[in-house]
Amino acid sequence: MSNVKFFSGDSVPLEMHKVRIVQKLNLVPIERRLEAITEAGNNTFLLKNRDVFMDMLTDSGVNAMSDKQLAAMMEADDSYAGSETFTKLENKIADIFGKRFFLPAHQGRACENILSQAFVKPGSIVPMNYHFTTSKAHVVLNGGMVEEIIIDEGLKVNSEYPFKGNMDIEKLKALIEKHGTEKIAFVRLEAGTNLIGGQPFSLENMREVRKVCSDFGIMVVLDASLLADNLYFIKTREEASRDMSVREITRAMADLSDIIYFSARKLGCARGGGICTNSEEIYLKVRELVTLYEGFLTYGGMSIREIEAIAVGLEETMDENMINQGPQFIAYMVDELQKKGIPVITPPGGLGCHINAMEFLDHIPQSQYPAGALAAALYIAGGVRGMERGTLSEQRDEQGNEVFSNMELLRLAMPRRVFTLSQVKYAVDRIAWLYENRRLVGGLTFVEEPKMLRFFFGRLAATSDWQQKLVAKFREDFGDSL
Ligand SMILES: *Cc1c(COP(=O)(O)O)cnc(C)c1O
Repeated sequence: MSNVKFFSGDSVPLEMHKVRIVQKLNLVPIERRLEAITEAGNNTFLLKNRDVFMDMLTDSGVNAMSDKQLAAMMEADDSYAGSETFTKLENKIADIFGKRFFLPAHQGRACENILSQAFVKPGSIVPMNYHFTTSKAHVVLNGGMVEEIIIDEGLKVNSEYPFKGNMDIEKLKALIEKHGTEKIAFVRLEAGTNLIGGQPFSLENMREVRKVCSDFGIMVVLDASLLADNLYFIKTREEASRDMSVREITRAMADLSDIIYFSARKLGCARGGGICTNSEEIYLKVRELVTLYEGFLTYGGMSIREIEAIAVGLEETMDENMINQGPQFIAYMVDELQKKGIPVITPPGGLGCHINAMEFLDHIPQSQYPAGALAAALYIAGGVRGMERGTLSEQRDEQGNEVFSNMELLRLAMPRRVFTLSQVKYAVDRIAWLYENRRLVGGLTFVEEPKMLRFFFGRLAATSDWQQKLVAKFREDFGDSL
């Protein structure tokens, strides 16, 4: 699995870094975990970190920084305008992406707000391989519509297809011909497609998208938030790109994009974001919005220390031994779970490991939120915090009916360089125990259901005393173990 072969023949991801700063973790007893999830209304977003052992909620803003990033943060040159630190990042963007103009923003969704305000009008259409929650919300807020033209394979839970994030080129052409070029604000390609399990697109697919867009005179916007994972998969899965360095692949992708934006909470293991382009026209159009919403053009709502960290983090992303850590740990986890017959999304992607709750808990109807129930159950079983990606994350329709999601997933994110392999093994073990005892797990029902963003703030209760029964079974099987 790693670039280092083991004599034993074992497939083990090997960390190419050492740990020099540590943070103490708490694993509270299962009785406390039951209390904590009850206090949190069975919503893992509402758990307190002090009750969490492995925080696999997200990869956003929780990736481990390197010694070089921390050192750079000490050198940050703080000034409202003309900071040296900003120039460093601008130069790094030019060096890596080959883009002359860089506009900073405080995080990924801020870039989406700005780009949507600049280019989306009422009636506009934005074709995408797949939407991300915030990218869609900003398009819709500006009166536009999102069209998902992911290849059919992308929505299959189990597949061997290496590039499930590819865009369907024929559908893209048909869509543009149907609506006309003027209606298309831009085509958005999302690297490491988040909501379908961190799945990549190929460089070849991106070239084809570019060609269609050039033929019709449409802009290509690359959401590079999860670029690191996508780069790794192009490097390791795409035959034609095997001889290219990570840096060359990055540059090739950048050359195919009119605009690149990213969340630095993911890309570059820091916090912040930004937009870059070679078009002066685009730069001038977007500049004022950045100043209005984010801050002056040399900080854009970011801490200057984070800007230093992003510059270093982007450079580190060009190292295959850095970007392989997340995907290899995820592949290890997915393989181990699959060996035990536990339903997971395949092939393994970036971002995290996704458990198919619809199959794991096939006795729980979607109206009782199987993925949410699985998230609560896994927290109780092991202190592992994941994120529901299913019906709970949807919103009711205008008549107040549930909108059942296509997939019911429990996402277990793998923050980059954060966990050790034994911690991952522990998570696999607790999931396996839960799978063994899955019939004990019951559903959830809302007790407080906000109209908007219910998955963030909503509170739920178990539909029976299944959680108490799960705790009792744990004690029976594990004795006084944590
Ligand atoms: C996280 C994410 C965003 C939004 O970034 P934030 O920094 O959380 O605002 C946009 N696109 C993708 C693909 C993401 O994963």
